Amino acid sequence: MSKTKKKDSKVYLKDKIKGKCRFCGLQKPEVSFKKAAHAVPEMFGNKNIFSSNECDGCNKVFGETIENQLGNWSKPYRSMGRIFAKDRIPSLKGCGWRVDHGDKFPIVQSLKDADVPFFIDEEKKTMTSTIVRDTYIPDMVFKAFLKIALNFLPEILLNDFRRSVDCVSSKDDGGFYSNFKFFQVFFPGLIYKDRVDVIMFVRKKCNSNEDLPCAFFILVVNNYLYQVPIFSDSYNVAGLSSFEEIKPFPFLMNSFKPLASSRSGVCEIKSSVMNFSSKEKIKGDVETINWVADGWRKVSKEEAEKYLSEIK
Ligand SMILES: [Zn+2]
Repeated sequence: MSKTKKKDSKVYLKDKIKGKCRFCGLQKPEVSFKKAAHAVPEMFGNKNIFSSNECDGCNKVFGETIENQLGNWSKPYRSMGRIFAKDRIPSLKGCGWRVDHGDKFPIVQSLKDADVPFFIDEEKKTMTSTIVRDTYIPDMVFKAFLKIALNFLPEILLNDFRRSVDCVSSKDDGGFYSNFKFFQVFFPGLIYKDRVDVIMFVRKKCNSNEDLPCAFFILVVNNYLYQVPIFSDSYNVAGLSSFEEIKPFPFLMNSFKPLASSRSGVCEIKSSVMNFSSKEKIKGDVETINWVADGWRKVSKEEAEKYLSEIK
């Protein structure tokens, strides 16, 4: 399944059993469904795909917990990837500096002696940014991705994935997802603004006592791809896993426009296995992002303020 929709076409994922929440399992009128639940969080630029099977109570709890952590972790990507959420692109701030976004390019403002985390190479026309993330808890960030995946899991399979649903709802935290391979792949090239793609792969037959995931969920947000494993209830946590054989799906690479060949050495496709099993808070984590541009220009404070005020 893959959906990339225009802004005005809304899609609602609907189960056959209406008015039943996928996560807490409660039904109307015990729970309500008044709010539109984004199947992929709005912070990722999703304005089109909604879930009709997430109750208001679960929606609120997810927003305040796992999605809040996902927001902290993903902020450098969302800001530097220029993702519009709730009609603005998130700003980045540090000691004595900040980055705000206009319609076409970002503005970096800083005090004279501020330790700005951007290194500009005028000759190569490159910029390296080293941004410190907000504090986050990896386990909760992964659960936010898993929750998105479960929104898209076919209804008919839900009963085989109860433990994964319970993990997201924090009903089952007995180490079911203590060992897994979660990929992030970065595709260099032009920024893919407002790109949100989802793909679900489910194996035809999942046997009991398995040591491999029964399903994979792929989420593409701008230039980043996330590959989330989803374990069925028959997954054997203690089994010998063949995780080494699991690789990121390669076929999407052709759908990104590459940089001009003269620039291609600057940024390369980068595939990382994310270690997101820890339940400890991570502080001071640095994300490095490389940029190429036609140029950089110094502007006066007045010019910067005028440019930024035009988009408000
Ligand atoms: Zn619920």
